[in-house]
Amino acid sequence: MTSLITARGVSRDYALPRAELFTPRQLRHALIDADLDVREGESLAIIGESGSGKSTLIRALLALDGGGSGEIEFAGRRVVPGSVRSLRWLRAQTGVVFQEPYASLDPRRTVGWIIAEPLRALGIRGDHRRIVREVLARVGLHGWRADNYPHELSGGQRQRVALARAIVHGPKVLVGDEPLSALDVTIRAQILELLRDLRAQLGLTVILVSHDIGLVQRFSDRLVVLESGRIVEAGEVDTVLAAPQHPYTRRLLDSVPTLIEG
Ligand code: ADP
Ligand code: MG
Repeated sequence: MTSLITARGVSRDYALPRAELFTPRQLRHALIDADLDVREGESLAIIGESGSGKSTLIRALLALDGGGSGEIEFAGRRVVPGSVRSLRWLRAQTGVVFQEPYASLDPRRTVGWIIAEPLRALGIRGDHRRIVREVLARVGLHGWRADNYPHELSGGQRQRVALARAIVHGPKVLVGDEPLSALDVTIRAQILELLRDLRAQLGLTVILVSHDIGLVQRFSDRLVVLESGRIVEAGEVDTVLAAPQHPYTRRLLDSVPTLIEG
C-alpha cells in the first residue's frame, strides 16, 4: 500500500499563560517528534488519554496550525503549516468531523447552506442544490429538506449533516476527531455503520481519533498510540490489541472494560 500522508519528526508546542507578569512563558510540548504514515485506503485509529496530543496530531496533519517543526507530505506534496496554498490544497483533499455536532454547525444557517460551504470555499462549480440533495441521501437523510436548521435535527442527524459537509467536495481522506463520542450507544452504532458504508462506497482513507477501543477494533486496520505527545506504539489493530508492546498501551487497554470478541 502506498503512503498517502507522511509525517516525519513533527512537533508542536503551545505557549502557556505566564504564571506571573515577568516570568518567562512555559511551553507545553503537545506533540513530540511524531513519525507517521497514513496508507492510501486504510482506516487508521489514533488513541490515547485525554490531553495526549491526538487533536494536535490531526491539526498538524491538516496544517491547521502554523509553527512547530517537522515535515509533512500529503499525496507527494510538501505541506507548509499555516500556508494558504497548503490549507486550500488540504481542504480539497480532506473532510473533517468533530466530536460535538452541534458546536460545529452554525445554528443560524440552514442545513443546505452548511453542507454546501466547502463547495463555495473551494470554488467548486455546478448545481450546489442538487449536490446537497445527493449527499443528504448518501448520509441517510433521504427526503430531508436542505432548508432545515441544525436545532431541528437530533444528535445523530446533526452528525450525519457534519459527515455530509465533510464529503460533499469529494475528498480522499476523512478525518474524525472523536466523531461518535457525544452520541447515544444506539445512534453511535448507526453512524459507525454509515462511516463504514461511506468508506467502502467512496474509497476513503479514514483517520479516526477515538477513546472507544471496541470501535477501533471494529473499524480500523491500524492504530497509533499517543502518550504525552509521543507515539509510543503503532501497528495492525489486531496485533496490537492481542499483544500490546508498550506498558502505556497495556494500561490503556486494561482500563477498557470489555473488548469485542471475535
Ligand atoms: P487530546 O486531543 O489527545 O485530548 P490535545 O492535542 O488537545 O490532546 O492536547 C495536547 C496537549 O496540548 C494538552 O496538554 C493540552 O492541554 C495542550 N493544548 C492543546 N491545545 C492547546 C492550546 N490551544 N493552548 C495551550 N495548550 C493546548
Ligand atoms: Mg482531542
